[in-house]
Amino acid sequence: MTEGKIKKLLIANRGEIAVRIIRAARDLGIATVQVHSDADTESRAVRMADETVNIGPPAAAKSYLNVESILKAARDSGADAIHPGYGFLAENAEFADAVADAGLIFVGPSGDTIRLMGDKAAARAEAKKANVPTVPGSDGVIGDMDAAARLAEEIGFPVMIKASAGGGGRGIRIANDGEEFRTLAPQASSEAKAAFGDGGIYIEKVIERARHIEVQVLGDGEDAVHFFERECSLQRRRQKVWEEAPSIALGERVREELCAAAVALTKAVNYKGAGTIEFLYDDETGEFYFIEMNTRIQVEHPVTEMICGVDLVADMIAIAGGGKLRVNQSQVTRSGHAIEVRLNAEDPANNFMPFPGVVGELLAPDGPGVRFDHMLYPGYAVPPFYDSLLGKLIVWAEDRDKALMRLKRALDELQIEGLPTTAPLFQALLESDDVRASKVHTRWLEPWLAENPDLIRQKGGSET
Ligand code: ADP
Ligand code: ADP
Ligand code: MG
Repeated sequence: MTEGKIKKLLIANRGEIAVRIIRAARDLGIATVQVHSDADTESRAVRMADETVNIGPPAAAKSYLNVESILKAARDSGADAIHPGYGFLAENAEFADAVADAGLIFVGPSGDTIRLMGDKAAARAEAKKANVPTVPGSDGVIGDMDAAARLAEEIGFPVMIKASAGGGGRGIRIANDGEEFRTLAPQASSEAKAAFGDGGIYIEKVIERARHIEVQVLGDGEDAVHFFERECSLQRRRQKVWEEAPSIALGERVREELCAAAVALTKAVNYKGAGTIEFLYDDETGEFYFIEMNTRIQVEHPVTEMICGVDLVADMIAIAGGGKLRVNQSQVTRSGHAIEVRLNAEDPANNFMPFPGVVGELLAPDGPGVRFDHMLYPGYAVPPFYDSLLGKLIVWAEDRDKALMRLKRALDELQIEGLPTTAPLFQALLESDDVRASKVHTRWLEPWLAENPDLIRQKGGSET
């Protein structure tokens, strides 16, 4: 599939996704350059890569977000392409442009596509144009607070105030009435300005008890295909903690509609690369609503890889190198059920407090149907400066019940000494009848956590 344009790939990211990208590059016969901060000189990705370049101090603003440093590392090492991973510069249109202007390949869509679809308010407009249902809300970013407050009344409270440039669950507020709205909206705007460099906000009706269902897509600029859906309804602070594919909430007809809508939107913007179209799905009415597109590889991509038998990271690199889609839609098939859980360096028995530390003994689960994508090794000191994601444990089996059994087996095998992780949360969730029956929605987990404070402790939370 590769047309061989990419010979050396620079990875402008860290952690487990950097490890994942190095593996995909190796499978394609592409050399790797791993950039890193002063805090990551001993990271697993640094140990694995063919070459490494120090790009600055621990603070992300001075290293992983430092465009000049990253471009210089690419020039000095002779890399011809840059993979941004997720987070950091992955959805930064100016970065994608700067990479292209430097004569290098950006592994992702063009800066213009990111501006169109990575900006959440703009993407809503594109979705509407492509006749994909969106959540009732404002047309584009709100300029005038009075008009916005009137619109919020019309939509009906509670409403969500969202940063157009937000991501990772950040930049979202809920207003329950007009008064709250008038206080929260300006606050949300100034926070978004500080956090994302863009104060644009928009509003959406709150869809109660919805499921988060998203569709994986891949486009080569001309054609696009989907790889079915993932369900990510188990969330804490609007961040996913458990993802699976397929969603057992979807009947075949809705699945087809949802995937067709995602492909239509992908084609409408001549999308090139890997992307995800996120929806909220209301079980009771059978309605789905577009919420956003992530114009990058996502944390939870492995569940799709497990059910479809594909390598999405290799495919996105190959497409960036000038390759075309390897498959047409009818060649994309799925089988079985996959579940991913996110292992964070956090103490679930202590309000998920981040807990960086040194990894002691490590027993990684494996065996049939188990995949563990992570950044750990015994003796590794987890730095305190970044996202707390250590890795993802993914299982596959013929059906969901068997996948749940396998997840339990893998979690029982897993031993990470030296620091608490979110593993006990998943041990506890596996005993919930609602989780076992998948009777969940995006606001299910937080009340469950509040009601079951001891369950996680019993599963070994807080023990190090
Ligand atoms: P996914 O669906 O892949 O989980 P998320 O939106 O949860 O996507 O983000 C993936 C990662 O990138 C997380 O670690 C998150 O913290 C980070 N991230 C995403 N968008 C942003 C952003 N705009 N600013 C800062 N971090 C972000
Ligand atoms: P981010 O860019 O941070 O990922 P999203 O717009 O994708 O933000 O929303 C993150 C999560 O917030 C969703 O998965 C869902 O749980 C919740 N959410 C977002 N929009 C709505 C809405 N209109 N109604 C109810 N919940 C929502
Ligand atoms: Mg999202």
